Amino acid sequence: MRVFQCAVMGSGGVGKSAITVRFINGSYLEWYDPTNRKQFNVDNQPCLLEILDTAGIDQYLTLNDMFIRESEGFILVFSLCQRDSFEEVLRTYDAIQRIKLSEGGRIIPIVIVGNKSDLIDEREVDTTEGEKLSLNWNCSYYETSARTSININSVFEDIVRQLRKNELSKRQ
Ligand code: GDP
Ligand code: MG
Repeated sequence: MRVFQCAVMGSGGVGKSAITVRFINGSYLEWYDPTNRKQFNVDNQPCLLEILDTAGIDQYLTLNDMFIRESEGFILVFSLCQRDSFEEVLRTYDAIQRIKLSEGGRIIPIVIVGNKSDLIDEREVDTTEGEKLSLNWNCSYYETSARTSININSVFEDIVRQLRKNELSKRQ
């Protein structure tokens, strides 16, 4: 079975770990296996996804470059309740482009995630802003809540579909 590697990136506190735990464990804010891998079916085909749950972007710039080099796909998370974290997605995207294009990359599998959709009253970023970004970058956009579990599986299924597509195009 093909093993895919993806990194979950974004500012500290946006819910990267909560999303990863929710997906791997099906629970909210509980300890989980630090290897962070899960076997699951996408479009009736099994796959094994290894998920690198990174620390906040600002603190570990050099580590970020390493995570980017080691990953094939990227889940870029911001908090719908924190505008700063949305701006951070732009910077992370630039870093990914810089590193992957210098490696002679092609289309890079990316999913943008606006998390904490359950905190309706605290929203600072509109749905249309996330959608616009995903149109510009030709990637996907989901609004999730690790707390209620909404759209979490869709994010990981989407990245696997993109990774598969990417692999097929490499063979041509
Ligand atoms: P990380 O630094 O990006 O890994 O963020 P964490 O996963 O540690 O989450 C930071 C805080 O945000 C946690 O204390 C959670 O309580 C909260 N959080 C994460 N996801 C959600 C969510 O979907 N909804 C709400 N309401 N809170 C969330
Ligand atoms: Mg974390």
